[in-house]
Amino acid sequence: MSPKNYKIAILAGDGIGHEVMVEAKKVLATVSSKFQIGFEFDEKLVGGAAIDATGEALPADTLTACENSDAILFGSVGGEKWNSLPPEKRPEVGALLPLRKHFDLFANIRPAGVLSMLKNSSPLKPEIICDGFNFTVVRELTGDVYFGEKKLTKDFGSDLMIYQKSQVERIARVAFELARNSRQKVTNIDKANVLATSQFWRSVVEEIHAKEFPEIELNHLYIDNATMQILVRPQNFDIILAGNLFGDILSDEAAQISGSIGLQASASINSQKFGLFEPMGGSAPDIAGKGIANPIAQIGSAAMMLEISFGELAATKSIKKAILKTLESGCRTADIFTGFAGEKKVSTAEMGEEITKNLE
Ligand code: NAD
Repeated sequence: MSPKNYKIAILAGDGIGHEVMVEAKKVLATVSSKFQIGFEFDEKLVGGAAIDATGEALPADTLTACENSDAILFGSVGGEKWNSLPPEKRPEVGALLPLRKHFDLFANIRPAGVLSMLKNSSPLKPEIICDGFNFTVVRELTGDVYFGEKKLTKDFGSDLMIYQKSQVERIARVAFELARNSRQKVTNIDKANVLATSQFWRSVVEEIHAKEFPEIELNHLYIDNATMQILVRPQNFDIILAGNLFGDILSDEAAQISGSIGLQASASINSQKFGLFEPMGGSAPDIAGKGIANPIAQIGSAAMMLEISFGELAATKSIKKAILKTLESGCRTADIFTGFAGEKKVSTAEMGEEITKNLE
């Protein structure tokens, strides 16, 4: 692979996936000419659209395209039409879980934060977010109760919570490495006062910290306390490290307090930094086809791809700056429009065009 020519599997999916993906591709096309980076897009069906065409949420042809690419840029999947299918056949379970498993995408990285010009969009009180906040949730994706042995009878149900040492070690390294390039602080979340799995998890995190990252500040919070602390002192966090279950809960809480889900990008990566980059939200059937979806989460996901998988830092910075400039100019899609003076309501396409125009 030439370092300046990247093949990207584009899986737009269902609902608003197509509308926001068009805008991300516009941004990438302009980045390509400004930074002399080649992008080759391989567009494939996934989710409900793929079920309609082939009977499967992740057709073999789509998986092959992903295998032959340097990264996957994913839109979103799902919708009412496919809800009557058995769970494992549905767009979300049938496409996303196999992709995560196939590429061993064990680390889910979800930045959260409030931009100064969007404080009105956060449900937190102004006095709590007056200084803004900015932290990243690092969630383990391959272990925990989701993958432990499951039993379901008419008298009881159980899900085994289990982590192997190697799983904890590799996710801890991702969190500490991110902290090195951030504010040097990791907060580990667990329930070590009750759960043996958490005691084990915490001891492995401490071992990796002591051996490999002693310069990083490490502290621990129980999950119940963490859900409260995020609401009252979000500024205290830099990198939050959590297992699959606790990370699932915390990352959704973090997305909510950041304002609209339409702003939130995420990455799921493996140890080679190959990744699937996608908005945190779903296919938003309630607004699909209306041209009002916020494309920033999809464009932000493309920026995370450039940063994490390709190491194209100048291009990443340019996209982030263009998003800020666009928001500073008052452009607001419906989800972040509050009616304050200086705001201008724009469509999905207008937001995408403005961001593209503001790329430096
Ligand atoms: P959702 O995230 O699709 O929508 C929740 C709310 O957020 C809706 O009001 C929607 O309009 C709004 N929203 C989401 N993205 C937005 C954007 N970019 N701009 C403006 N507003 C936005 O969640 P849901 O309604 O629970 O799920 C809808 C479908 O999406 C379901 O089938 C669900 O299973 C699926 N889903 C898919 C993924 C994925 O593909 N990774 C993630 C979550 C949900």
